[in-house]
Amino acid sequence: MALRPLHLLGSPALREESAPVDTVDDAVRQLVDDMFQTMDASRGVGLAANQIGITQRVAVIDAEGQRFAMINPRLVEVEGKATAEEGCLSIPDVFADVTRPERVVLEALDAEGRPFRLETGGLTARAIQHEIDHLDGILFLDHLGPVKRKMLFSRWKKEHKDDATWLKEVTAEPSASD
Ligand SMILES: [Zn+2]
Repeated sequence: MALRPLHLLGSPALREESAPVDTVDDAVRQLVDDMFQTMDASRGVGLAANQIGITQRVAVIDAEGQRFAMINPRLVEVEGKATAEEGCLSIPDVFADVTRPERVVLEALDAEGRPFRLETGGLTARAIQHEIDHLDGILFLDHLGPVKRKMLFSRWKKEHKDDATWLKEVTAEPSASD
């Protein structure tokens, strides 16, 4: 397993529409393992493959005790509305309230290539929607009103104008048990 550098806002990979996975093989399983490790080290509740520069429809979630990989995920039903604060590993230190459907029904393949269906709400449903957005090249700030959205993007650009790269190295916690 390996930690992968995160792609931060500015990386073209975050704005690409990711391609479906044809076959869930060892390479995809390795990608899933690396993504879980990178998400854990970054203390995230979800991570999409294009956040580590791989534009394939693969994401991992660890929210409210539910930990799973979702390959070629799609929402077959959404219901209700909920607003809560979101952040993103690719846009560190930026947070904003985002309104999304409250409950979702997800269909995807697991890391063994088996189809599964999950009906869920709360933070898990929010994380699933946030990660599927990533696979479509959408960021959580895109859900905000135009004024707030522009303000937060401009502030980010200003604060990061001297960055030499959009990559952020992820390091394991010294005390991590794995
Ligand atoms: Zn994100």
